Amino acid sequence: MQYLKEIFCLFYPNICVNCEVTLLQNEKYLCTVCNNDLPIIDDNPHTNVTLESTFFGKVPIKSIRSFLYYQKHGITQKIIHELKYKNQQQIGSFIGNWFGTQLKESGIFNNIDYIIPVPLHSKKLKTRGYNQLTKFGQTLSNILTIKYIPDILIKVSVSKTQTLKERFERFSDNKTKFKLKNYNFLEKKHVLLIDDVITTGATLETCCKELLKTKDITISIATMAYTQNL
Ligand SMILES: [Zn+2]
Repeated sequence: MQYLKEIFCLFYPNICVNCEVTLLQNEKYLCTVCNNDLPIIDDNPHTNVTLESTFFGKVPIKSIRSFLYYQKHGITQKIIHELKYKNQQQIGSFIGNWFGTQLKESGIFNNIDYIIPVPLHSKKLKTRGYNQLTKFGQTLSNILTIKYIPDILIKVSVSKTQTLKERFERFSDNKTKFKLKNYNFLEKKHVLLIDDVITTGATLETCCKELLKTKDITISIATMAYTQNL
């Protein structure tokens, strides 16, 4: 098997996701140079305030943190693209490990009860074969010792027999519908909602609105990356 792998690597060597140089044996996904160039937010207070303001006046968020800055054609975009579309699920663990360690040191999410991912529609799950947040969530769960519950919040199709009001809402901002499977389970709990990239925050906001149907729930957010201008 190892022999076959070496032959395979001869023709298809592991290359850096960003600059495409051949990776050394101890390098993974990114070469050392690109790895050092990763635009880590590193708990930048200014960015944290901007992140919080994304949801200000919309949904109450306790704390929010993001790991990387995301720019068009930047390293972050490339690794997240690999994670989402090239079956490179392990990139989720790679980011989760780094981010999780940082979060643990900061202690910001010390009082969280559960980690919940933004769900993927079952059809999309079938075509992609995995939710890009699974490895990320599991890794954060291990490092922060918080239980990961991937199946309580689900994404559902909007039925064709919806009321006119719902149809109108769909045109305004609700193209997707999230459904909490149990409205009591998260009562008085503090949950950490996770996603890959925050752009406008619309998807996370829709998820939060559904979660907020639970009495006395507290929500915090952690994402792999954050972008302001795309
Ligand atoms: Zn590189």
